[in-house]
Amino acid sequence: MSTVVALHAHPDDEALWCGGALAMLAAAGHRVVIAVATDGHQGDGADPEAGVRLAELDASAAALGAARVVYLGYADSGHGPLFFPDPADRQRFARADLDEAAGRLADLLREEKASVLLSYDARGGYGHRDHVRVHEVGARAADLAGGVRVLEATLPRETVQRLVRVGRLGAVFRPSAPPGQAAAAEPAPPMFTPRREIAYRVDVRRYTRQKRASLAAHASQLAGPRAPARLRRYATRLPVPLFALLGGREYFNDPSATPAASFLDVFTDAV
Ligand SMILES: [Zn+2]
Repeated sequence: MSTVVALHAHPDDEALWCGGALAMLAAAGHRVVIAVATDGHQGDGADPEAGVRLAELDASAAALGAARVVYLGYADSGHGPLFFPDPADRQRFARADLDEAAGRLADLLREEKASVLLSYDARGGYGHRDHVRVHEVGARAADLAGGVRVLEATLPRETVQRLVRVGRLGAVFRPSAPPGQAAAAEPAPPMFTPRREIAYRVDVRRYTRQKRASLAAHASQLAGPRAPARLRRYATRLPVPLFALLGGREYFNDPSATPAASFLDVFTDAV
């Protein structure tokens, strides 16, 4: 069995980007470790007390069957047009030194003898600055640790663009402006990954209950008037079969020269 480390920017990203895949890997007997760069204290929902979002992440990880959660110690960079100053005790992830941040993750990869690292696509999905940093730090950490294969969670660009157009979901995939200010401009497309370039399309419908429970564990992110919080509230109230329709497939890029025959083969080949 392999050990897989999943690097995420904020508590709740593990549910949204690859919760089904993490539950699937844990159920298959692999050791799943979730590394989170920030405490998510600039989130989409009601901004809770310090520590609340990390506690929610622990509950989410338990729902997915993850063995361990590690907080890398950075502050959430936020996703509005403003770049908040660093808090007194730590740096915001997006402006952390690349080698220093990658060094923290590489230490974890070595300690866990991880063979696979789950990261994000080069755009950081829709372009949140902390998500872009996950891509950069993940790639560098895998180089530093050596012998670690990287897979990048993503979505098919065409599907997201259609959802944004038809479902009027622009607010979900657009950096939010601070309260009282005009909405930020659209991020420069393109987002995510063109469908033809995606290596693995993973059917996670069998793990719908775990994925929905993982999302629901982030109670603070279900509260508040912003569009992402409203959408999450809606998603966690859907019946399981409907949730499976929307969240039953997850997608990964494989930057290695020799992709595996299937997503699960990556983890068995890696041993
Ligand atoms: Zn995030």
